[in-house]
Amino acid sequence: MSCLSEADQDRILAAVDEAFETQIAFLSDLVRCVSLRGQEADVQSRVEAALLERGYDVSRQTIDPTLIGRHPAFSPATVSYENSWNVIAVQNPAITEGRSLILNAHVDIVPTGDPKRWQDPPFEATRDDDWLYGRGSGDMKAGLSAAIFALDAIRAAGLELTAPVQIHSVVEEEITGNGAAMAVASGLTADVVLIPEPTDEKLVRANSGVIKFAITLHGTPAHPREVSGGVSAIEAAMRLIEHLRQLEARWNEEGAIQPFFHNVENPAALTIGTINGGEWIASVPSCCRFEGRIGFYPGDDPHERVRELEAFVARIAVDDPLIQRCPAPIVEWVGVVHAGYTLAPGSDAEGILAEAHAAAHAPNGPALNSYVMACYLDAAVYAVHAGIPSLVYGPIAENIHAIDERVSLASLRRVTKTIALFAATWCGVRSVADASHLPASHHD
Ligand SMILES: [Zn+2]
Repeated sequence: MSCLSEADQDRILAAVDEAFETQIAFLSDLVRCVSLRGQEADVQSRVEAALLERGYDVSRQTIDPTLIGRHPAFSPATVSYENSWNVIAVQNPAITEGRSLILNAHVDIVPTGDPKRWQDPPFEATRDDDWLYGRGSGDMKAGLSAAIFALDAIRAAGLELTAPVQIHSVVEEEITGNGAAMAVASGLTADVVLIPEPTDEKLVRANSGVIKFAITLHGTPAHPREVSGGVSAIEAAMRLIEHLRQLEARWNEEGAIQPFFHNVENPAALTIGTINGGEWIASVPSCCRFEGRIGFYPGDDPHERVRELEAFVARIAVDDPLIQRCPAPIVEWVGVVHAGYTLAPGSDAEGILAEAHAAAHAPNGPALNSYVMACYLDAAVYAVHAGIPSLVYGPIAENIHAIDERVSLASLRRVTKTIALFAATWCGVRSVADASHLPASHHD
């Protein structure tokens, strides 16, 4: 393990403090970009400009749709990727001595729900005491700002990393993972990847594999005076969702014997996210379609789970007295189909992260705790397809994917410090004689 001198460490921590208001302003700019699926170009342009300004080798990386179905990292897509691209920034040192690093963050966000239910409009980046509000503030534009400003702090401290570092600002994390898949499929790799998702300053020990589906039921439309001749697609869909709860319960039971998952309350977490059905207020509905996701365990083959769910639906379609009166339900795969991952305890990377975490919390630093996240993470793509140890560790945030999402700025400051110290120790540093590139405030 390379060691960081106490003086270098102090300078890095001070540099994070020094630039923190600038970091909050940058984060606020990112939150003001409405980077919903397919609308990430604006935020990515800002990220690209910020990285170019800092002297990185920056490129745009478009998702190649011809790789979908051919490269195992990719999940099914249902949209065009014309306006969705990753921003990849690379910094190669003059002398490589340490280990290389990827810092990854996703810029895509999920919808806000009714903005009137928010205390402040969701894209205004309102600051209130320790909290910065806004959709994507926690998940995970704060983490992206932490990655960029952590590396800034190392330079501002008069140091240079002695190993290659990359920043992957990716799209599609919230639906398919195909942004991260593209990064990995293009051959980008490193000795470790760190992803500052909002984890309340804990380390993710494992995550679940996830599959995302859409199921369409067709009924028999009818007039209210002859309801008995009709079959309601909406009622059939509601029945099928109830049956799917049995599949969820069965997959949850498997958690008891899974490493790390036995204490997770609902690892499968069947979530029905959308439902659309019916054509007219006074007609028995002919069609209903719902979308959802369900999780399983690291090591499970996601395609095996796909077959299991399809077989379950097919059996219900035969057994259920209402659903059997409908044509066979149509199951489509419309989002991520991906395995989970586990971070083996005791790695060098984890040890360095724990030390950095303690130093950022000094003098009363808590130990670095780890936990299981029962959801999809882009870390799985790097871990499963590139064999890269994946550290997911980021700031305290609340209400992600909900109303009044917010991130703690004190926590973001600590996480930025942790990432800076981690990068400096993992990659190694050397002093830069020429400090002319530093902001004026850092000259002695
Ligand atoms: Zn996220």
